Amino acid sequence: MTSTATKRTTAVRFILALLTALVFIGAVGQGPAEAMTVPRSARRTMSTWQTYVLHSVDGYWENVMADWGQPEPRVRYNWRNPGVSYQCAASTRNLGPFYCSKDDTMYVPTNQARHTWTTYGDFAAAFIIAHEYGHNIQAELYGPKVNRYRELQADCFAGAWAGYMFRKGKVSNRDVKEVYRWMNGVGGNDPVGHGTSRQRKNAFYKGMTKGPSKCSGF
Ligand SMILES: [Zn+2]
Repeated sequence: MTSTATKRTTAVRFILALLTALVFIGAVGQGPAEAMTVPRSARRTMSTWQTYVLHSVDGYWENVMADWGQPEPRVRYNWRNPGVSYQCAASTRNLGPFYCSKDDTMYVPTNQARHTWTTYGDFAAAFIIAHEYGHNIQAELYGPKVNRYRELQADCFAGAWAGYMFRKGKVSNRDVKEVYRWMNGVGGNDPVGHGTSRQRKNAFYKGMTKGPSKCSGF
């Protein structure tokens, strides 16, 4: 009797341990399911979140530029909504997210970031910040001229940061799909200026999987 009871207990324990292991493996395998991992303090407002993303992108590029023997990248940012006067706005008539080389500033209005977040997901909004930062890297490397090929390179640069975050477990497959959805939607609405959604997805994927040094063929 005693022996049977012990065996049963052992069997139950084994099954419980197995279930626990499976649940644990499942959780680890999925990674952060809901959103890019950010500290609580960064989640207070849209602009604190944007600033956190920018610091993450900036920290990543600091290392890349050091590896490339380049000076530390510098950029200013402005998250205010349209209505303020931008040095580049008059020429581009663009009040959306953009990088202005004249004042070395990234403009990503909080209302647009919020709209992207609610329509496509948080990582689509993060991607836009990484893309504009990519233009800053181009300005540092090649000067201020921007064309379509540079747009795809900015997508590739953003992908390089996304791949780094993915490998750190701070970004999930679902996050990456948000960027693709954004590129299938509004991100693909400007095929002449930015490239088709297919070109953009390819550029992003290339950066993610091959890294920033392979972002030169655009
Ligand atoms: Zn761009």
